[in-house]
Amino acid sequence: MSTQIRPFIAFLLILAGAQECHAQKDGAAQLPGQALAPGLFQLREMDLHLHSGMERPVDLQGWIDLAVADGRKVILLLDHLELYRKSSEQYEAWRDKGKFQARYPLGSEGHKALYSDFASASQRKDVLIFRGWEVSEDELDSGLEMAPLRMADALGFHISPRNGSAPPNGQTLLKRVRQLKELQQQLPVPMILFHPFPMRIENLQRTAKSKGRDPRTITVKEYRFFRTGEQKELIRLLKGSSIYIEMNRDTEKYFDDPVCRKALIADILPLAQAGVQFTVSTDNHHLAAAKKPFAPDHYCGPTGVTPSHCNTIVRELLALRAKRALVGADSKQATGER
Ligand SMILES: [Zn+2]
Ligand SMILES: [Zn+2]
Repeated sequence: MSTQIRPFIAFLLILAGAQECHAQKDGAAQLPGQALAPGLFQLREMDLHLHSGMERPVDLQGWIDLAVADGRKVILLLDHLELYRKSSEQYEAWRDKGKFQARYPLGSEGHKALYSDFASASQRKDVLIFRGWEVSEDELDSGLEMAPLRMADALGFHISPRNGSAPPNGQTLLKRVRQLKELQQQLPVPMILFHPFPMRIENLQRTAKSKGRDPRTITVKEYRFFRTGEQKELIRLLKGSSIYIEMNRDTEKYFDDPVCRKALIADILPLAQAGVQFTVSTDNHHLAAAKKPFAPDHYCGPTGVTPSHCNTIVRELLALRAKRALVGADSKQATGER
């Protein structure tokens, strides 16, 4: 190679590197078929985690009306699966205390009744409705109740703050992703890791308070969810999968604190830039929250999470639904053993 060509090649390599870097920064540019803005739902138009079962404070249509009035166009309706395992005495006492409007039978009758209400709601023409469950992450270790899970369009796993014990971290998430990949062999539906990041912050702040430490002394390093190498491993595991990480509204509680914000950006931005796919949600349970405008752009923008990251699951849900509806479709093949 001549000495004149070498600097030219070096220049080309720098140019290629810069372009790659630019593409990584612009998460929206990464996925084919997502460049047309009218083909994407905006962040505030999606809520992939709306509690609409036993804890519902008003009737289901009224509850969905509130979400639609605030701009929602796609909703995953769900309930905590473990609530259906209460005894009747426990349920009545809990229901009286919570002053819930909803009442469902317990056990499998309750699963059916809830999903039948959700099916009626999905007849609405002003919003796309999907059906899911919120399942405790611990059930991935102790054993899952498969029958209700098979009814769902998508499943969310509650990553617990583990208040009073060690908070969730990168190892928690890596373990759960491996378990979900395994579970998807039997249950081929999109799966979401619910609210991992704010749960760690909640734990650390509560622990500090309970020990008489000022939470304002918690450092970015302590808040950081991931240790060296864990983001890279997570990106590798999630690549091309149907496993999503949730940015729920709890993030908003911590985002204006500059220390939390710095940690959240350091944890989430590299994932978004590498093409990890996300969901946005309100995780609403109560009327007060449902009446507050949903503004996920506030914390999604700085963490690199764009509509493009959050539309993949919607496209997937629509495709699965369309496949099931095809005349002559083998529903068992399309949806597992549902
Ligand atoms: Zn949860
Ligand atoms: Zn929830």
